[in-house]
Amino acid sequence: MPTLEPVVAPCWCCAGEFAEVDLVRLGARPEAAICLDCARFVKRRAVARRDEHRRTPFGAVRGGVQRVRDRVISNGWHERGPLGAFLRRLDRFLP
Ligand SMILES: [Zn+2]
Repeated sequence: MPTLEPVVAPCWCCAGEFAEVDLVRLGARPEAAICLDCARFVKRRAVARRDEHRRTPFGAVRGGVQRVRDRVISNGWHERGPLGAFLRRLDRFLP
């Protein structure tokens, strides 16, 4: 009787191992996959790059949120017990 082991693949961004359902494959390079958290990170970087070239009120808000996020991460607040859990959960809903 064969064993059913979950298929895992590495994320090309963070090198973590993930199940196929938790990966996003790149269109022209299907062998390359990134995990959902890294996909969110890459999207934010792409939007920030676009905001650099095109100034909008929404871009200014996103820039402010990113500056706060950078400060939280540089101080390690996102890793502090209940406060860190709250900040990580809150980050899911921020642009
Ligand atoms: Zn990743």
